[in-house]
Amino acid sequence: MELNSSIRNIKGIGGKTEKLFNKLGIYTVKELLCFYPRGYDIFGSIEPVSSVQEGRTVIIEAVLKYSPKVTVSGNLKVTRAVFKDASGSIAAVWFNMPFMAKMLHMGTHYILRGRIMNRNGFLEMHQAKLLERQEYANLTGTLQPVYGLTAGLTCNAVARAVKRALEETDLNGDFLPADIRKENNLVLWKKAIYAIHFPADKEECIQARRRLVFDEFFLFALALGQLRKTKHKMESQYIMYQNTLPGQLVNSLPYKLTKAQQAVWQEIQGDLQSGKVMNRLVQGDVGSGKTIIALLSLLMAAENGFQGAIMAPTEVLAMQHYETFTGMLEPFGIKTGLLTGSLTAAQKKKVQAQIAGHEIDIVIGTHALVQEKVEFENLGLVVTDEQHRFGVKQREALYSKGNSPHMLVMSATPIPRTLAIILYGELDISVIDTMPEGRKPVKNCVVNTNYRTQAYKFMQKEIEAGHQVYIICPMVDESENMEAENVTDYYQMLCTKMPPGTRIAYLHGKMKPAQKNSIMEEFASHKTDILVSTTVIEVGINVPEATVMMVENSERFGLAQLHQLRGRVGRGSAQSYCIFMAGNDSKEVMERLSVIGNSNDGFYVAEQDLKMRGPGDFFGIRQSGTLDFKLADIYQDADILSAASKAARRFKDQDIMDMCKKHGRLKEQIMSYTGTVFL
Ligand code: ADP
Ligand code: MG
Repeated sequence: MELNSSIRNIKGIGGKTEKLFNKLGIYTVKELLCFYPRGYDIFGSIEPVSSVQEGRTVIIEAVLKYSPKVTVSGNLKVTRAVFKDASGSIAAVWFNMPFMAKMLHMGTHYILRGRIMNRNGFLEMHQAKLLERQEYANLTGTLQPVYGLTAGLTCNAVARAVKRALEETDLNGDFLPADIRKENNLVLWKKAIYAIHFPADKEECIQARRRLVFDEFFLFALALGQLRKTKHKMESQYIMYQNTLPGQLVNSLPYKLTKAQQAVWQEIQGDLQSGKVMNRLVQGDVGSGKTIIALLSLLMAAENGFQGAIMAPTEVLAMQHYETFTGMLEPFGIKTGLLTGSLTAAQKKKVQAQIAGHEIDIVIGTHALVQEKVEFENLGLVVTDEQHRFGVKQREALYSKGNSPHMLVMSATPIPRTLAIILYGELDISVIDTMPEGRKPVKNCVVNTNYRTQAYKFMQKEIEAGHQVYIICPMVDESENMEAENVTDYYQMLCTKMPPGTRIAYLHGKMKPAQKNSIMEEFASHKTDILVSTTVIEVGINVPEATVMMVENSERFGLAQLHQLRGRVGRGSAQSYCIFMAGNDSKEVMERLSVIGNSNDGFYVAEQDLKMRGPGDFFGIRQSGTLDFKLADIYQDADILSAASKAARRFKDQDIMDMCKKHGRLKEQIMSYTGTVFL
């Protein structure tokens, strides 16, 4: 088999299974081999029931105590059975696996392996697997790959297919030159691919990951190097001589721009008038006031008769921007439009026609802006908000909708300058490094679950004072059903704890965009008091009256992500609070969370997060780095990023061409980072 053979050639993959793999974007053998495990199951030993901890996957050996019960909750069939060992008892719960009830017999000993969850104060084991004694003995101490799956495909099925592919494919061609491998202590690609799926031990897994992360960064850096060359100091067709409206808008604002905002706005005006194409990144912590900078820039474009577009990563955020922008731009006679995926075909068509005919000056949208057939009459400026949620490719796709328009990129990811220069190599960087005046720093506390009742009381007081509350439930990664269930369950529980009349709503990723929008809008217009949500509200949203955020199971989030979440409060003049609730209060968890509890500074938090992770610490939480990488994490792998970029810089055009000639599809792979053709 060849790396680019279809996966149909793998024994055991028939038409039906092939379709399931296709759903995951896997068509070729190479794509299958590069479908890396999301994590590994480390098979530990049997633990006493009384000492299991929330959030961990554990193995217990216990007797069935009561016969199992199956109940129906919404579209879920829930099977529940209670087990006991000498130390205590625990409930095991299975979702949509009613057959489990028939498999269990009273009085029989079972070895169960599953994740411990906290449901209303009680620990229970979810989706447990029953293990044969021999099976348990064989697996103890090993690392088993866990894949991100689609319905119908099991981890075992993926592992089997990968094993076959590994056996029958020649993996000897390694594109990375030997000297680069040697300098950076990297194992061969062949070895890395094998070990990332089936590591003999943790060390091997770390080595494998290191090599594959290096590859991602290296190819990314090559792609960026090419992009930089095409963009260097290009002449612009969109020189903006007129510049009176932005000043008027600034004067009409209810606040004064901060010094940092003023400085960045100066830089942008300079770019837009310079005659060269602007390529600028604005970096500023959550809440530092980036939106107004985007708005002023787009207003300037419109004043000069050019169109502008701003792309946001979620519909909810695009909607919110649309409303803000429309409210502020309409008085100047500037027309705005909204383009998102959830519009009807007819609505889309109408907006597209208005864009093409320049009836709309400023378009606010989501990915739909690049996915749909959008043609602008004269697009002079593109803005991407929350760039860390997009890949370079999407940003470039928006750019290519115009004829070398100016580009402004906004990001709240706090990354050290040295990394920013590598990741955003072709952009000039501006930093908004101060917060608007009059903001009171968010007050934080890190607590364990004993504090929950008190937290609810505190929320009531804040609600009585006319404020609003976010409660964040973690994503449940095993299945989307459980994610939804977690939020709805929590919501129901909360309704019984809060005084009657408290207006509570909930939001999760499985809802339709229109539904999400309306719930968000109701919260923004203060028709609800408490919003129970998953991390879908993580980016951008601005509800200044929300003063309390409580994050359940904070230990399951990366610190940088917690910081982004916290950015949803502290946006108005009232004092805000963030309660980080830890599901388990082990020393390590409390130590890690104390970093965010003690600091509101995004840079500091990200830095500490980095320091506290050991090099092998990737089994746990993965930070949402940037979307450009499958495995690599810009924080955790910062040192590999520098090394790979250094290696890439030594590569001449001729070297890249030679390498691409020798290794099939490498060119496509490099191009896939930016979408632009090179050489
Ligand atoms: P982010 O940088 O996270 O995108 P936003 O642009 O959403 O932040 O701004 C957060 C809030 O701060 C908004 O309500 C905005 O109106 C307000 N704001 C922005 N600049 C200032 C300022 N200079 N003074 C006071 N409030 C400001
Ligand atoms: Mg923002």
